[in-house]
Amino acid sequence: MTGQKTAYLDHNATTLLKPESRAAMLDVLASPGNPSSVHKQGRDARRRIETARAQILKFVNADARAVVVFTSGATEANNLVLKGAGAERVLASAIEHASVLGAARGAEIIPVLPSGVVDLGALDKMLTGTDRQTLVSVMLVNNETGVIQPVEQVMALAKKHGALVHADAAQGAGRIGIDLQKLGVDYLTLSAHKMGGPQGAGCLVLANCVAVTPQLEGGGQEKNLRAGTENVAAIAGFGRAAELAARDMAAFQKLSVLRDRLEGELLKIAPGLKIFGRDAPRVANTSMFALPGVSSETQLIALDLAGIFVSNGAACTSGTVKPSHVLQAMGADAAEINSSLRVSLGWNTAENEVDYFIEKWAEMHGRVKARTECPK
Ligand code: PMP
Repeated sequence: MTGQKTAYLDHNATTLLKPESRAAMLDVLASPGNPSSVHKQGRDARRRIETARAQILKFVNADARAVVVFTSGATEANNLVLKGAGAERVLASAIEHASVLGAARGAEIIPVLPSGVVDLGALDKMLTGTDRQTLVSVMLVNNETGVIQPVEQVMALAKKHGALVHADAAQGAGRIGIDLQKLGVDYLTLSAHKMGGPQGAGCLVLANCVAVTPQLEGGGQEKNLRAGTENVAAIAGFGRAAELAARDMAAFQKLSVLRDRLEGELLKIAPGLKIFGRDAPRVANTSMFALPGVSSETQLIALDLAGIFVSNGAACTSGTVKPSHVLQAMGADAAEINSSLRVSLGWNTAENEVDYFIEKWAEMHGRVKARTECPK
C-alpha cells in the first residue's frame, strides 16, 4: 500500500460489494452444495437460491405470475430475452447497452432526443401499421448519462399496438424504485454488481408469463430456461443486495446533492463544460460531461495518476477508441464525444472523495489551459 489518497467514482461500471452481501456469499462458500443434489447440502443450496428469488421478486414488486431466471449477469439476461423471445420484429433504443444492441442485430433503432430521452413520438410511428409480433427494448436508466427513460409510457404505446416490452434495468435497480406491477413490462433485466452485489449474477424477470426459448443447452436448471449449475454464492449475495438496495434507496437519493455540487464546481472552473442529460430526469449518482479540447484520455490518465477512478462512457467500450454511441445518438459532436468523462457515485462515496476529484480535475484543467493558451 502506498497510502495514496484515492476516490472510486465509477459505480456505474461496478459498485462496491456491500458487507452484508459479502457475508451472505461467504456463508454459502463455507458450506457448498449443488442445488440439484437431493441431499441436505443440496437442499440448503436450493433454499438459498429460492430465498434470493423471493428477495428479488419483492424488490421489484412483482405479482404472483412473475418468474425470476438467474443468469450470469445482465449481458446474459439481455441475450436470453432478445434472442429467445422469438419476436418477428425488434425495436431497440439507440442508447441501449451493447449487450442489447449486439443480441438484437437487425433491430430497428428508436431514436432519442438531444436530452437523452427516448423519442416516444418516433416509437409511436414505428409501432403503427404493422401486425408483426414486436418486441420493444428500452432501458430504465442509461448507464452513461444516468437519464431515466419513460418506460411506463413506452409500455402504454406498446400495449396500444400489441407489442411486448423488455426493460434493461441494470442501471435502474437501487437508483430508482422499480415497481413491476406499475411498469407493466413483460421482461426486466437486473445485474447484481450494479446494485451493491457481486459480479457474475443477474436475472431476467418474466413478468407476465411470456416465456423465452433457452439459449444454453444442458440440465434443467431455472425451470429449463437456463442450463448450468447456479452460482449459488453470487445469487445469495444478489438477493441480499436487493433487500439492501430497497433499504438504502433514500440514502442513495441524497447523492444528488454531491453530484450537483460537483457539476456546479466544475462549471465554475470551466464554464464551457457541457453536461449531458442535465435537463432530463436523471438518477442521483451520475454525471457525464465533456470539455471540448481536453481529450478523455488526458483527463483519465491525469486522474488515474492521482488515484481517482472514473470512466469515459461505457466501461465495456472504454478500452477501445470506439466513440460513445449514446452521445452520438444525443447529437453530440466529435469534439464533445472525445472529451467526455463519466463520474458515478455510489453507496459508500464520501464527500471528501468528490472534493478530491474537484481539486485534481481543476489542477489538470489548469495545466492544459496553460499549455494551450497563446502567450500574450
Ligand atoms: N446493461 C446495462 C445498462 C449496463 O450498464 C451493463 C453493464 N455495463 C450491462 C447491461 C451488462 O451487465 P453485466 O456486467 O451484468 O453483464
